[in-house]
Amino acid sequence: MPSRRTVLKSALLSAGAALVPFDCLSALASEDAPPYNLDGFQEYADYKRNRKLNGLAPDSVKPDPDNPSLQRDGRRCMNCGRCDAACMEQKIAHWYKPEDLKSSVKTLCMHCGQCVSACKYNVLTEKTEFFDVGTALARSVKSENPDEKRVYVATTAPALRVSLGELFGLEPGANLQNQAVAALRKIGFDYVLDTTFGADLVTVEEARELKARLDSKTPGPMFTSCCPAWVTFVETFYPEFIPNLSTTRSPILAQGAAIKTTFAKEKGIDPAKIVNVAFVPCVGKKYEATRPENAKGAAYWDREGEFRDLDYALTTRELGSWFSYLQLDPSKLDPEDYDPILGSGSGSGKLFGSTGGVLRSLVRQFCKDVTGETPSPETMELQAIDGISGLRETTVDVGGYKLRAAVVCGLAGARDLLDRMKGGDIPYDVVEVMACPGGCVGGGGQPKIAGTERPTDETRAQRASGLAKIDREEKIRVASDNPEISAFYKDFVEPEGEERREALFHTSFQKRDVWKMSPRA
Ligand code: SF4
Ligand code: SF4
Repeated sequence: MPSRRTVLKSALLSAGAALVPFDCLSALASEDAPPYNLDGFQEYADYKRNRKLNGLAPDSVKPDPDNPSLQRDGRRCMNCGRCDAACMEQKIAHWYKPEDLKSSVKTLCMHCGQCVSACKYNVLTEKTEFFDVGTALARSVKSENPDEKRVYVATTAPALRVSLGELFGLEPGANLQNQAVAALRKIGFDYVLDTTFGADLVTVEEARELKARLDSKTPGPMFTSCCPAWVTFVETFYPEFIPNLSTTRSPILAQGAAIKTTFAKEKGIDPAKIVNVAFVPCVGKKYEATRPENAKGAAYWDREGEFRDLDYALTTRELGSWFSYLQLDPSKLDPEDYDPILGSGSGSGKLFGSTGGVLRSLVRQFCKDVTGETPSPETMELQAIDGISGLRETTVDVGGYKLRAAVVCGLAGARDLLDRMKGGDIPYDVVEVMACPGGCVGGGGQPKIAGTERPTDETRAQRASGLAKIDREEKIRVASDNPEISAFYKDFVEPEGEERREALFHTSFQKRDVWKMSPRA
């Protein structure tokens, strides 16, 4: 019988997780005939040429050992530099003067995980936690001691449903949403909820916030803040724009607070006994789970320090590895529905998984709030912001407001935009920013092509089309039309009052002082 480690190793390999394909070693020896597939990795050739011109060898991203998102097994590193180039593509690595880099106390990391995506040899990976979570879940299921029992709640992010299937032989964009629900129940989760509920909650809160900013003529645009890498980027490099970040928490943290308050109350469960596990396309969410504001539910119960809103964030790849380890192929299961209360989202919520989706959701909700009517088909689709990269903009005339809106994905584009705004050019009222190319469909925790190659723009576009299709087929496409959202506001948010709503679903951001910065001329 194969050992447990051998079974795990083959499961991880089939899911494309952190093991190196050793047959690539000999091919790497030749500099003249690189074995790399450079599709979707535009800056790599420039990177190598520039490093060579400066007498430097390709470098590797080396996360600090306590980085909550990333880990690196340097023994297998090829020094190919693909991770470093990906970080440069985000305008992070080598963006500041070398003398300042030496003065750093920490390796500069925004937790976007694009270095992980780029590492063909899986030397850099997400901080892998699925095995520990799975072991604890199995112990809880088997235990006969009520004190040891925990209630495991899974939430699945918008982008995961259109990429998880790739780990089981399906095309990018194939919708595995309800089969993933079935598989999560099979592996022992007590409840399975959709993060799109959290996305709808965020949309309702952000639309209110946007209207208040416009009505009070608050200067500058409102930036979305659901991407932790983008938030970290602003806190680190552009603290003067912190007041422009929406104070609404991210979907998994807002939903996490709701799980540890309303959900716990409704189900009669001690919130400290709930283990809330989010399955996400993102390695940054692992870092987000360590942020101090991940504790609003405990504050609600006056039980600070006893539990967190979100306990774990596991990536799409980790979920694939977990299923593979258990020899469970979700695509072979009959679809099942999410559990009720806080369980389901609108078409808008699903769109959060790709670039432009958060803005579309926000504009739909804003329109509904100011006119009381369902948005027109044009406002619903916002075709002017179609696309998977670059800065896209539009103006929406609605209920007497002229909303100037823009979308950008990738931190390099975000930096260019903020530099423009620092120069006084501020042509927008609201801007969606996501750190990864294509938004979360291109997140650092998403499947790689054949387990090794960084997803291309084509793959990201296929995943985004999958989400757009799901949205078009939904009957409910505006967040506040989601009956679970209206029930949540009527039964919980409104009776609790304004102060509680602010405390649970909003947050604040701080300047990060770990870095002495002088951008290169
Ligand atoms: S991409 Fe992977 S193998 Fe290449 S330098 Fe970076 S860590 Fe090493
Ligand atoms: S774009 Fe999405 S996947 Fe990428 S860091 Fe932001 S939230 Fe995470």
